[in-house]
Amino acid sequence: MKELQEKCKKQLPETRFNEPLYKYSTFQIGGPADFFYKATDTEQLLTIIEFCKQEKIPTLFIGGGSNILFDDKGFRGFVVKIENKQIIFEDDIVVADAGVLVSILIREVMKNKLSGIEKWIGLPGTVGGAIRGNAGCNGLETKDILISASVLDTKSNKIKELKNAELNFSYRSSFLKKNTNLIVLKGTFQLEKNKMNENEQKEIMKQIMGERGKKQPYGLSAGSFFKNPSPGKSAGMLIEKAGLKGKTIGGAKISEKHANFFVNIGGASSQDIITLASIAKREVKAKFGVLLEEEVQIVKEKND
Ligand SMILES: Cc1cc2nc3c(=O)[nH]c(=O)nc-3n(C[C@H](O)[C@H](O)[C@H](O)COP(=O)(O)OP(=O)(O)OC[C@H]3O[C@@H](n4cnc5c(N)ncnc54)[C@H](O)[C@@H]3O)c2cc1C
Repeated sequence: MKELQEKCKKQLPETRFNEPLYKYSTFQIGGPADFFYKATDTEQLLTIIEFCKQEKIPTLFIGGGSNILFDDKGFRGFVVKIENKQIIFEDDIVVADAGVLVSILIREVMKNKLSGIEKWIGLPGTVGGAIRGNAGCNGLETKDILISASVLDTKSNKIKELKNAELNFSYRSSFLKKNTNLIVLKGTFQLEKNKMNENEQKEIMKQIMGERGKKQPYGLSAGSFFKNPSPGKSAGMLIEKAGLKGKTIGGAKISEKHANFFVNIGGASSQDIITLASIAKREVKAKFGVLLEEEVQIVKEKND
């Protein structure tokens, strides 16, 4: 390993070794990654990809870490946090790098006197994470405003522009979820001009934040743990009806406020969360015949 680290340092001097992953997850759970890098441009990504191909090191590309559960044992491979941050406005269109936080994008859109994404207020994570998972809230999903995404294919090292239709979006999913060799580099979004003034935008955001505060718990979570099984059926409601609100395993608890939020109340291990999730799955299946599917990405120590 020492030899490999030396080799890596020569090509990528800013690489960190044995970097704790809990720092990069809103759950604040996760052991060390063998290699860790904050990539601010495509050149760095290409160098990492080449190095990992040559040395046969597994890779994992992350954004804001708000939809991810790392393993307590960490990740045996190279974790790359995407941190490119450029935002370019062209009339009512914005091209935002994958590493831009959604919260920053909203602020910049408003500064440019445009609207169309204020409903995303309170949505954690980055543009890249949102595109990959078709994130959304308050009736606005990524698919509704994304024109195209620029992606880097780690197999061919080529950059492709994928149109909205090619991304095959569905509820909390896209073509990119099944094609993990594609890394989002940036997204092009259609915004609105002269549709809303700043005060109207602020009013909408205030209301939304008020609702979030009422419905969702504060504390360390990754948002909704499971996808809603169908449009009329909420995973949170099923878990609640199964009598699991407040259920605690070690440092992990099913929130009293919203049963689809699994909260690290202090010192939770990844196994605590997984055990709690499997109890929720088992009980919901037994009581309602519904198999819940994880929305949170569970990252194992080793790629199978
Ligand atoms: C309190 C709270 C509230 C939330 N509310 C909502 C909500 O209302 N609606 C909603 O949809 N989600 C919600 N979430 C979940 C989360 O915010 C979204 O899923 C978000 O889009 C994840 O983005 P991220 O950058 O944090 O991704 P990460 O957690 O870093 O990564 C998630 C997955 O995407 C992959 N990925 C990340 N960046 C890239 C990239 N550039 N290219 C390719 N793959 C990439 C990772 O490998 C991983 O598999 C909430 C989370 C929290 C903590």
